[in-house]
Amino acid sequence: MTEDAESSSVPAADAFGALASEHRIAVLRTFADAERDGERTLSFTEIYDALDIDSTSQLSYHLDHLEGVFLRRSESGYELNRAGEDVMRAVLAGSFTETPSFEPLALSGECPGCPETAFDATEEDGLLTVRCDGCGMRIVTYDLPPAAVVGRSERAVLEACDRRVRHEYAVAVGGTCANCGGRAVVSVEQRESHGETDPYAVAVCERCNHRVFAPVAAHVLFHPAVVAFYWRHGVDATAIAFWDLPRYIEAWDVDVAEVESNDPPMSADRSPSTEPSVSVTVRYGGESLALSLDADLTVSVVGTDGSGNGG
Ligand SMILES: [Zn+2]
Ligand SMILES: [Zn+2]
Repeated sequence: MTEDAESSSVPAADAFGALASEHRIAVLRTFADAERDGERTLSFTEIYDALDIDSTSQLSYHLDHLEGVFLRRSESGYELNRAGEDVMRAVLAGSFTETPSFEPLALSGECPGCPETAFDATEEDGLLTVRCDGCGMRIVTYDLPPAAVVGRSERAVLEACDRRVRHEYAVAVGGTCANCGGRAVVSVEQRESHGETDPYAVAVCERCNHRVFAPVAAHVLFHPAVVAFYWRHGVDATAIAFWDLPRYIEAWDVDVAEVESNDPPMSADRSPSTEPSVSVTVRYGGESLALSLDADLTVSVVGTDGSGNGG
């Protein structure tokens, strides 16, 4: 480990090339089977006995390709290194090889675009998409990994994808990419959909480009003051699914203003830059809670009002 936390690397073509063999994938699966039995280290003979391979020299040839990239060798045998574990888990999860299927699921919700209360969840281009039945508005889109559909009802698949995305989002807006662990840069971005421009809380990974975003209202809903506000009214805000958010946030006020940036201007002759500042008034059960959101997604409580006229 070096002091500045740099990482060493193997050329990507070498790493992926090392996987271009049925036998080498079978070696990784052998480690997966061993792991289920609580075993991490396998001897040459144990690997040989587990595989349908012609000779020990053939196995040596394949292990040479994997060693240093996905396997490390010690006195007691072979072990997967971290990259080897990642690949083994991707093989087991079917991430690169399986296409999930999902039967359309009818839901009820509140459309922000029309009075319709019937939604449909379907698989569209590999994504799980919830749309309004009436106007076709896309309410939310989830990543649909192959493993998510195995052994679950359609409803349970939707709930699992929702939980996964919420978790991913919460980690990313905290500055860490849930995909690769890299640094995520957060911001408020104005996005247009269905003729309306709304502020979104966005996190983009500097390393792998993984991008997550949610309407600022969804972001504010994670704040402890908002969770407590709803909890007093008997609602667990932490359990509201993304596709069911419109039911709650329809009554809110969300306003965006451009304010002077705290960052110093790049040069003396440049005017100070501006950044968006969002004010949000959360409303429920005749009460309101006013909050503000900075460009770096920091949420502050501005005030509360029990009369329902706050904001
Ligand atoms: Zn609609
Ligand atoms: Zn990343």
